[in-house]
Amino acid sequence: MTAAHGAGGPEAPETVAVSDITRDPLVGQVLVPERELRTRIREIGEAISVDYAEKPLVLIGILRGSVMFMADLLRSVSIPVSVDFLAISSYVGRDSSGVVRLLKDLDHPIAGKDVLLVEDIIDTGLTLSYVLRVLRTRGPESVSVCTLLNKPRSRLIDQPLKYVGFEVPDEFVVGYGLDFNQRYRNLPYIAVLKPE
Ligand code: 5GP
Repeated sequence: MTAAHGAGGPEAPETVAVSDITRDPLVGQVLVPERELRTRIREIGEAISVDYAEKPLVLIGILRGSVMFMADLLRSVSIPVSVDFLAISSYVGRDSSGVVRLLKDLDHPIAGKDVLLVEDIIDTGLTLSYVLRVLRTRGPESVSVCTLLNKPRSRLIDQPLKYVGFEVPDEFVVGYGLDFNQRYRNLPYIAVLKPE
């Protein structure tokens, strides 16, 4: 909610957000600031453009955590690509339910195409290995993984990761698409969520 909607003119009152997510008391240390996100995502986009030049590449995002990353990554990829999304559920609060469910399937076939799965964060690796299993049954030419964040210390199942934005410690993080009970996705950086 905003206290006033500034019209931009000299007499307009200053716009003050009375409920500013960046001042939420549960938002802790900033692990990846905006500028570092921008720089690294540009590098990954450039690498993808070189590695997949001349190939029919499909970027597949996992809803909803990967939307910001996908949007910025797309702007950094200069080769022709198509985009599709999957929705799955595995987390309730801070803990994985351990059960992965497919909530929304792809809209288009991926047979014969090079697929790059765009993930927000790999933690235990359980979700990733479920999604990879599903995608491989569809006959793609190749399937690789691009993740913004990697928490290697929590890994239960290892899968090769072709592009990794940042390694983060084994803490629950929010922001830049990542939520806690649907909150904090709109933080423009990655921060630790403090224990309640
Ligand atoms: P995994 O199956 O690898 O344990 O978990 C993958 C999914 O869990 C991610 O796509 C993400 O939605 C969620 N997740 C894992 N760690 C975190 C975290 O630190 N913060 C948030 N917000 N989500 C996480």
